Amino acid sequence: TEFKDLGLAEPILKALAAKNYSVPTPIQTQAIPALLDGRDLCGIAQTGTGKTAAFALPSLDYFHHHPKHTPQKACRMLVLSPTRELAAQIADSFRDYARFMKLTVATVFGGVPINRQINQLRGGVDILVATPGRLLDLIDQRALTIGHVEIFVLDEADQMMDLGFIQPLKRIDRMLPKDRQSLFFSATMPKAIADLGAQFLNDPVRVSV
Ligand code: AMP
Repeated sequence: TEFKDLGLAEPILKALAAKNYSVPTPIQTQAIPALLDGRDLCGIAQTGTGKTAAFALPSLDYFHHHPKHTPQKACRMLVLSPTRELAAQIADSFRDYARFMKLTVATVFGGVPINRQINQLRGGVDILVATPGRLLDLIDQRALTIGHVEIFVLDEADQMMDLGFIQPLKRIDRMLPKDRQSLFFSATMPKAIADLGAQFLNDPVRVSV
């Protein structure tokens, strides 16, 4: 299989060609068709497998086919990452793959002043990559609402659990709309992580690489 056989929209194929990516990795081959169908996904995959593109590319395809103005202080896609480094990397990948599309990508994480992040969110953003603690701070300060999220990604769930983010994640889950597409990734899937995933997912396709 090549990327051009997966049915991705033209600006996405153009961005992949610019990066000289022609063949999808195994997780991309497994995940992209199911995600383009709108299914939820539970993936066991490590960093380095091409996991970011596996969730970024079909999401960008969705935005291509469903253009919409994002409400103020809202986002259409929320990606949660356990660390600021990973959040920054994910956001960079999105900007790269979306370079021929008109989409806004923002990153928010703790350890830096919040005011700039509040300003960034004021007009709404299409894609928000966030760590859980700062996300909740922004919600509590009325700088952000996540009630308009159409696609939700929880990345590195096992690390989230190790870092003590379970209660914040449950709070975030209660604020997300029920009607959304959810993606859940973890490098390992012990029962506690699978149970956490079950809270977020609705009849997911399971992939493992
Ligand atoms: P990730 O697992 O998302 O951190 O991706 C690992 C690395 O592989 C990143 O540098 C990606 O840019 C790169 N990558 C992702 N998909 C492909 C692909 N289909 N072909 C070549 N490189 C890729």
